[in-house]
Amino acid sequence: MTNQNFDVIVIGGGLAGLTSAIHLAKAKFKVLLIEKNDYPKHKVCGEYISNEVLPYLEYLGFNPFEFGAKKISNFELTTHNNKSIKANLPLGGFGMSRYEMDFQLYKLALKKGVEVLKDTVVDVNFEANNFNVETKSNQQLQSKIVIGAFGKRSNLDVKFQRKFITRKSPYLGVKIHVSGDFPEDKVALHNFKGGYCGVSKVENDHINLCYITDFEAFKTYKDIDAFQDEVLFKNSALKEIFNTTESQFEQPLTISQISFETKNPVENHIIMCGDTAGMIHPLCGNGMGMAIRSAQLASQLIIDYLQGKIETRETLESEYAKRWKKTFNLRLKAGHAIAYLFRQDWLAPKLLSLLSWFPFLIPQIIKMTHGKPMKV
Ligand SMILES: Cc1cc2nc3c(=O)[nH]c(=O)nc-3n(C[C@H](O)[C@H](O)[C@H](O)COP(=O)(O)OP(=O)(O)OC[C@H]3O[C@@H](n4cnc5c(N)ncnc54)[C@H](O)[C@@H]3O)c2cc1C
Repeated sequence: MTNQNFDVIVIGGGLAGLTSAIHLAKAKFKVLLIEKNDYPKHKVCGEYISNEVLPYLEYLGFNPFEFGAKKISNFELTTHNNKSIKANLPLGGFGMSRYEMDFQLYKLALKKGVEVLKDTVVDVNFEANNFNVETKSNQQLQSKIVIGAFGKRSNLDVKFQRKFITRKSPYLGVKIHVSGDFPEDKVALHNFKGGYCGVSKVENDHINLCYITDFEAFKTYKDIDAFQDEVLFKNSALKEIFNTTESQFEQPLTISQISFETKNPVENHIIMCGDTAGMIHPLCGNGMGMAIRSAQLASQLIIDYLQGKIETRETLESEYAKRWKKTFNLRLKAGHAIAYLFRQDWLAPKLLSLLSWFPFLIPQIIKMTHGKPMKV
């Protein structure tokens, strides 16, 4: 590393980290992004992204359709007792794998002048209005601003003793790409006892199957195959899609300890973005939209601060926390409430029956957990 001093250091190169780094480099600031993994890499994610991010991605110089993203406008919800409910998506979205999307944004970041370091951040200290960022390979790096975009659960959450990290979370996510037949313009959400599975196509015609379930329910089965056989396949739509398609992964990807606890958008003077600031339940299909939106919010304010339009760090931090809450609090509350209701075994079938009688309610519910197209 030639120059150890940066305007901004971004920790974590997922969607929040990459988009904020590109935004700030576009505004001619000296940006370092530190990501612990190589690109490209698969991530457990439903890979359905709301169109609300499109105007901002265009502003950053990124067009997902250039890389084969699939336009999605239809939604299907099936119940574990095999009722199907269909609706149009109010704003729509697109399907693109994280393998491809993060990789292409990484390449764009390099093109825009972002320096990228493959390393793990192990500590961040704030002193005399400056940050010192320490990495696993013993690099000491300095910056005026640090953006924390290190995802839903990181070694840094433990280091900073963030409150949510001490609490156990019951959720487990499983993802696999398969090849076979599935409409390009549809995202399906198939409910099963204790969870649900999202299905949609991504850029290379693969179908992403991604489910989230309760770890307690899962661990009573011998392995993933047994769990799928006994639980998921009670939903005939899931049985069909798993049994008539061919896996493209040697093993499904899994993650556990997915937490939806409240977090703080600013901690230790670090501006938190994406899942690091707060995570919406994946049932709502808007975590990526929120990650990108929070990166935009943070970048705009950081630019104002670095250009002297915001005079103090205190104002920068309080303004970001205020805007973050104003933008996301309602979505998060709606998302938590919907997920809670659908987790109640006695209630979920009744709610799904209600939706099958009044399918016009579905776009209204989706709107509650999504934003409007982002202004640039
Ligand atoms: C099962 C499941 C399904 C989902 N489905 C959808 C969906 O269909 N649609 C949707 O919009 N959202 C969905 N989400 C949510 C979405 O995946 C997240 O909200 C999104 O990935 C957040 O992006 P991010 O940039 O905040 O974090 P990430 O993409 O997790 O990026 C964080 C990065 O930080 C790096 N990192 C961590 N610690 C360090 C460190 N110390 N040093 C350096 N690097 C570090 C990690 O390697 C990682 O690359 C789903 C989530 C789950 C769990």
